[in-house]
Amino acid sequence: MSAKQYKILLPEKELPQQWYNIQADLPVPLSPPLNPATGQPASPEDFSAIFPPALIEQEMSRQRWIDIPSAVLDIYALWRPTPLMRAYRLEQALGTPAKIYYKNEGVSAAGSHKPNTAVPQAYYNKQAGIKRLSTETGAGQWGSALALACSYFGLECTVYMVKVSYQQKPYRRSLMETWGAQVIASPSELTETGRKVLQDDPASPGSLGIAISEAVEDAAGRSDTNYALGSVLNHVLLHQTIIGEECLKQFALVEDYPDVVIGCCGGGSNFGGIAFPFLREKIQRDRATRLIAVEPSACPTLTRGVFTYDFGDVARFTPLLEMYTLGHDFVPPGIHAGGLRYHGDSPLVSRAYHDGLIEARSYGQTSVFEAAVTFSRTEGILPAPESAHAIRAAIDLALECKETGEAKTILFCLSGHGHFDLSAYESYLAGKMEDCAYPQELIEQSIARLPQIG
Ligand SMILES: *Cc1c(COP(=O)(O)O)cnc(C)c1O
Repeated sequence: MSAKQYKILLPEKELPQQWYNIQADLPVPLSPPLNPATGQPASPEDFSAIFPPALIEQEMSRQRWIDIPSAVLDIYALWRPTPLMRAYRLEQALGTPAKIYYKNEGVSAAGSHKPNTAVPQAYYNKQAGIKRLSTETGAGQWGSALALACSYFGLECTVYMVKVSYQQKPYRRSLMETWGAQVIASPSELTETGRKVLQDDPASPGSLGIAISEAVEDAAGRSDTNYALGSVLNHVLLHQTIIGEECLKQFALVEDYPDVVIGCCGGGSNFGGIAFPFLREKIQRDRATRLIAVEPSACPTLTRGVFTYDFGDVARFTPLLEMYTLGHDFVPPGIHAGGLRYHGDSPLVSRAYHDGLIEARSYGQTSVFEAAVTFSRTEGILPAPESAHAIRAAIDLALECKETGEAKTILFCLSGHGHFDLSAYESYLAGKMEDCAYPQELIEQSIARLPQIG
């Protein structure tokens, strides 16, 4: 009897040497970002107060392949290539003929996919002579990833952490501080934006939109400081394509290929990272893979939002991006998957969804945690609540296969582990978790405040 191949490992020398830029292959190109003051297409100079030249160039580039700098590859190699796992035990428990694979991005030191972009962002800023980076964090994963990356490159790091997560996840804060970052609960008294929000609502739980404004305000006011964003932007999704590129090589090793690729979707970076290389294969070679983005029903950006120009933040500092949005001042309920509480979405993911190249669906958090527990009890790994959205969709598709008898191949991105999310698991296991009522009224109100363009 031969041992089953649970773990598909790519040799280190097979680590992809280039990121893949989907902008080269989109049937309809992105609409340009707009300068918030003039309403005209933003120029590279509009970004230069907060981003280094190399990242601005990547943001705008339509070059298909972009070389990964060797200093970045050296750090990637500390945990990459990440394992592609075959979930035999989950398949068995479900009694499905489907084959379920997951790409485990939880093996990085920060426990998620986010260092894939934090490391190159810190590198390019260091190259540009920047001394300090400011950023926001929701659940704490991006802040941890950037704190880690800054410590690799000797940069200072200030993190504005959404207040509800700051309170729910004190250990994420300790992790960031251990890596040398300064962590501030947002809204804070340290910025104009924070003070204004607190004046209107002293009990504000915060939101990513507010924290982004604070971090951008901080960076724009200091010449030694730049800002770093952990999702949404084109250069972030570019860096994350290392995930999907590795998957393509790993599937080739086992002579299989996914019929469905699934990722949870907050700002779209792990989803775009795993899905875009497969989207390229679909566009260029007609390989019929379904690509599914999964979001929380409490923050249903793709499934219930509108496709239009909007700001990335509450204070309207950022350029206007064309994307699916719930309105830049939408404050989603404090669900446990903090990393998925963003009002907008990546312009690239939004464009692909608008043009029918990808699908989207949403789930409430209790059904998501049910899937997370099923996964933990079969595969052993405790998933991040964000990643569990992808697991929920993978399980549902596998159960559909059980009905139809189809042996589909399903791949999902396990974007991170949930070791810092145990209070959420505690609440679920104690039967105390509730699905947040869908805030239709709030969504309509904030959509009514969308900027009017043209
Ligand atoms: C941040 C985060 C997400 C959501 O961000 P995306 O940009 O949509 O990928 C998902 N999973 C984990 C583990 C995260 O840390």
